Amino acid sequence: MALDVVTFGCRLNTYESQAMRRAAGAGGLDDAVIVNTCAVTGEAVRQARQAIRRDAAAWAATRAAFGIDGGEKAVVNDIMAVRDTALHLIDGIDGRVRAFVQVQNGCDHRCTFCIIPYGRGPSRSVPMGEVVAQVRRLVENGYREVVLTGVDLTSYGDNLPGAPRLGRLVRQILKHVPELERLRLSSIDSIEADDDLLDALAGEPRLMPHLHLSLQAGDDMILKRMKRRHRRADAIAFCEKVRRLRPDVVFGADVIAGFPTETEAMFARSLDFVEECGLTHLHVFPFSPRPGTPAARMPQVPRAVAKERARRLRERGAAALARHLAGEVGRRRRVLAETNGVGRTEQFTPVRLAAPAAPGTMLDVAIAGHDGRQLLAA
Ligand code: SF4
Repeated sequence: MALDVVTFGCRLNTYESQAMRRAAGAGGLDDAVIVNTCAVTGEAVRQARQAIRRDAAAWAATRAAFGIDGGEKAVVNDIMAVRDTALHLIDGIDGRVRAFVQVQNGCDHRCTFCIIPYGRGPSRSVPMGEVVAQVRRLVENGYREVVLTGVDLTSYGDNLPGAPRLGRLVRQILKHVPELERLRLSSIDSIEADDDLLDALAGEPRLMPHLHLSLQAGDDMILKRMKRRHRRADAIAFCEKVRRLRPDVVFGADVIAGFPTETEAMFARSLDFVEECGLTHLHVFPFSPRPGTPAARMPQVPRAVAKERARRLRERGAAALARHLAGEVGRRRRVLAETNGVGRTEQFTPVRLAAPAAPGTMLDVAIAGHDGRQLLAA
């Protein structure tokens, strides 16, 4: 029998499953099914449970057919007791163009809507030397771009000797791997961004001018009820500061619509946050209560209202993206070609290429137009 890895959830889970498969293979594990689940929403958990029950039944039937006894008990570890560094560094899957390296796992915060810390445990980071060595290996293997990922990326280093911050890691990578052409950050908590990181954004052209921010809401009372660590004014000031340091920067953000107790006036502050911060790429989530979290016990906004607010927020996001795309027309941009005739600018804006290019090719292109979703190269 073979080793099977079943994955639920986002890209982070997909990358982690690759690392699990490799680690399990290296450790000699076979005749096993690893299920890597997502627990972000109640619905995700329900789907995963259903699939596990189905697979377990099929597995038990197969084992019985081969005369193997299936008497093992479930063993559950206490994730809160895990203090080890997350050692899995993940190779790229985007056709040798872009590699993702997970440098941090877990989270010490307790945002009231989030179940992640209970699934992933406390924050822990990969030592800088190991990250640098991995990035060097990836570049030697032909990758042009590396994305640093983590569950709470800006808490990088908390548990490491000397408590290096994310900015220092970024500087070390760029210094010790001069052949790396593009370095990106997956998602950051702006209130945790350190001065070194801002300096790197200002002075390191190889650190890409695209930041995805975990903002969640534009109203202070809602941010407080979410137990976020920033206020509206902090986020606006952060975006202004970064834009001063790096004028070509583009921001993305996660925003939740219809968080418990959110009034129309509070929501209006999330709407105008898009312009106040100058956000370009919005990831909008209508609030959905996650059983076991404090937010699930707060007075709820009707689901239909949350969905309708999410729709308005997405509309605002689409208009912001259209403004960004229109502003790109007529410029020349350096584009890293991916598969299927598409590439990405330094700001991570997708570009439909005029002619096919091998994935991993770096091109200088003139932007002739856009179709509302992506730029069109001349
Ligand atoms: S910082 Fe992110 S991962 Fe941590 S509790 Fe908050 S939302 Fe969840």
